[in-house]
Amino acid sequence: MRVAIIGAGYVGLVTGTGLASRGYDVSLADIDAQKVAMINQSRAPFHEAGLEPLLQKLVGKNLRATVETNKAVTTADVVFICVQTYCQDDGAIDLTHIKQAVTSVGKALKNREGHSLVIIKSTVIPGTTEKVLLPLLEKTSGKKEGEDFRIAVNPEFLREGRAVEDFLNPDRIVIGELENDSGDVLCQLYQDFNAPVLRVDLMTAEMIKYASNVFLATKISFINEIGNICKKLGIDTYKVAQGMSLDSRISPHFLSAGIGFGGSCLPKDTKALVSAAQEWGYQPSLLQSVIKVNDEQPLRLVEVAANSVRELSQRKVAVLGLAFKPGTDDMRDAPAIKIINELLRRGALVTAYDPVAMDNARGIFGKQIEYASNAEDAVSDAELVFIVTEWTEFNNPALYRGKKVFCGRRVFSPGQISNSDCEGVCW
Ligand code: NAD
Repeated sequence: MRVAIIGAGYVGLVTGTGLASRGYDVSLADIDAQKVAMINQSRAPFHEAGLEPLLQKLVGKNLRATVETNKAVTTADVVFICVQTYCQDDGAIDLTHIKQAVTSVGKALKNREGHSLVIIKSTVIPGTTEKVLLPLLEKTSGKKEGEDFRIAVNPEFLREGRAVEDFLNPDRIVIGELENDSGDVLCQLYQDFNAPVLRVDLMTAEMIKYASNVFLATKISFINEIGNICKKLGIDTYKVAQGMSLDSRISPHFLSAGIGFGGSCLPKDTKALVSAAQEWGYQPSLLQSVIKVNDEQPLRLVEVAANSVRELSQRKVAVLGLAFKPGTDDMRDAPAIKIINELLRRGALVTAYDPVAMDNARGIFGKQIEYASNAEDAVSDAELVFIVTEWTEFNNPALYRGKKVFCGRRVFSPGQISNSDCEGVCW
């Protein structure tokens, strides 16, 4: 089976590389010529464990990248659409990129002989595939779904930082199908993957993705709210989470209180579902609270510091960790952005360090902050240290001697560093 992937970002490149590693012939199409060139040189355009070694093994054999969508689509049996679906300022999903990608695929299908299957892997609001993307595909291709081509939804659940491993060993494979044939093709494609397969209609598949992400977001805001209450009472919220986790109905995952969730998925997906639900005539008050708690949580850490040292203006502050979580250089919606902006607003002098996200940070903050080349350099001159991403290298109490530390993630075990030297956002 020949595969085309439209959009070679975190999801598209990992999907394409993963499928190529299982022996499929894969063409990646992306409008970003620089990204395409890097991939063709077997270089990963972003930090993701295990990705570059796979590119080195597969590029030039059964994996390649191109800027020509037409070229990738006309030779493919299945076409995965993996472009970004950000949200607009009001939270509603922005379909600009996926409509452009679908239009290019439609135009390519016009001249293609024989059947192909178009699969929406990007996260889209329930109803989008059937009501927006399918009609667009029919219009731009001049062909008919069911007769000339087929469409399916196959949401992706990989986690950045473990994306390759997650793609190759998924917890489940969800297939949204209009007719059995398209689901059968996807089942065949994933036949070597050891995971339960759930086959549903298009809208249900789209909703499973949102419900999953929004549930995780809710769990994080929930434990953060418990953490905020625990801090008022002097209770260790991590002990509380441990106690909760011993209940078999409550899994221990996503119960780490801290400065909240970021990244390219949970914030935008929660906002998009809220916006869509309102459009459908429902006020999702729980989900609105999830967003509110999460918006405020990073600022709480700055507040904790301000309460502790009174004045942040002209104080030298080291910010350790910029990526939205360890294992990635992704800074989309990272709590570090809110924290640094708030520190700057209060007049602090910020030096930042992250093991892999420095280039992205420079693109966001430019000359507003200083950049250090390692954690030691970042903290050497600082009076205050903010730990924002839980990279393991930051779990080094010796680094913080004589500094006042404010922790947004629980990197230290109790007793590892004295409470007078280190205060957490909700512990
Ligand atoms: P991304 O921004 O990393 O990648 C998108 C890529 O698509 C970019 O390289 C961009 O240049 C390319 N692109 C845009 N328009 C194009 C077009 N018309 N033709 C060809 N290429 C085009 O995005 P991502 O993080 O990989 O997310 C993709 C989708 O997958 C989103 O809907 C996201 O919600 C979903 N998703 C993301 C993750 C994740 O962890 N990043 C996990 C699961 C699902």
